Amino acid sequence: ATPTALMVGTGRGAQLGILIKGPEVLEQTRKVDTVVLDKTGTVTTGEMSLAETHVAVGEDVAEVLRLAGALEDASEHPIARAIADAAREAGDLGQVEDFANVEGLGVQGIVDGHAVLVGRPQLLAEWSQHLTDDLQGAFDDASGRGLTAVAVGWDGRARAVLVVADQVKDTSAEAIRELRGLGLRPILLTGDNQRVARTVAAQVGIDAEDVFAEVLPGDKVDVVKRLQAEGRVVAMVGDGVNDAAALAQADLGLAMGTGTDVAIEASDLTLVRGDLRVAVDAIRLSRRTLGIIK
Ligand code: ADP
Ligand code: MG
Repeated sequence: ATPTALMVGTGRGAQLGILIKGPEVLEQTRKVDTVVLDKTGTVTTGEMSLAETHVAVGEDVAEVLRLAGALEDASEHPIARAIADAAREAGDLGQVEDFANVEGLGVQGIVDGHAVLVGRPQLLAEWSQHLTDDLQGAFDDASGRGLTAVAVGWDGRARAVLVVADQVKDTSAEAIRELRGLGLRPILLTGDNQRVARTVAAQVGIDAEDVFAEVLPGDKVDVVKRLQAEGRVVAMVGDGVNDAAALAQADLGLAMGTGTDVAIEASDLTLVRGDLRVAVDAIRLSRRTLGIIK
C-alpha cells in the first residue's frame, strides 16, 4: 500500500470514531480472520446493577451489604461497582483493612474485623467456605438465566449470593452479524462462568463451541496464542486491565474507548465510542483502503 493511501485511511478512521496507532495498522487489519471478543464491557455494557440478594438461613441482608459493599468499594470491577452502589444506598459501609484483589476470582479483606471474601465460589472454596444447598441453588438458577452471581463469605462460612445484571449492548448482535458477513469468525472470551457466557453468546449469535469461559485473566493471552498456532490471524477486542496481554498478543488489538487506559495502550486501534459496530467499520476501511492499490 502506498503511504498516501494509508494516511487517507487513517484520517477516514478518525472520522468514523477509530483512533489508529500508526498507518501500518491497517495492513494487519486486512488479514484478520478471527475476532476474539471480551464479554464484560465489550459485548455487554459492563454497567451492572445489583438485582438479587440471597442470604443463607440466619444471615442478615444489611450485614451482608455492609461488609461486601465496603470491600467492593475498593475494587474497580463492574461487579464491584454494582454491589458497592447498592450497599451505600442501603446504609453505611464497614471499615476495610488489608484489601486485596484476587485476579479473576474476586476480592478479599478485613472489614470491621471480619475476614471477608466476595467473588467466584472457587475463591470461597479455597478457604473451605462452601455454598449451602440454598445458596448453590440461587447461584445456579441465576447463572442459568444468564446473570452473573457472586458469593459472599466471612469468618469461615459462605453467607450470601449476590446477583448482578449486565445488559448486552443493543449494537452487539448487529456487529457480530456484520463480522460474519465479512467472513470473520467471532469468539467470546470471558472470566465469567460457562452458563452466563453461553447465554450472552446465544443472544448475540456466537456459536456455543466458540465460547471460552472461566478463563483467568493471565490465561486470556494463551487462548489468542492457541488460535494463532492454528494459523488464524486474530483480532482481539477488549476493555479491561485483564485483557491487556491478549490485546498486545493479538495480530490486531482493538480497545473500547470506554475501557481502561491499560487496554487502550496495549491496542493498535481504539473504538472511541465503545461501539462494536465500529470494529466492523475498521475492518471494512482497511480492506477498502488497501484494496484500492492492490
Ligand atoms: P471478564 O473476563 O468477563 O471481564 P473477570 O476476569 O474480570 O471477567 O472476572 C471473572 C470473574 O471473577 C467474574 O465473573 C466474577 O465472578 C469474579 N470477580 C472478579 N472480580 C470481582 C469482584 N471485584 N467482585 C466480585 N467478583 C469478582
Ligand atoms: Mg472486560
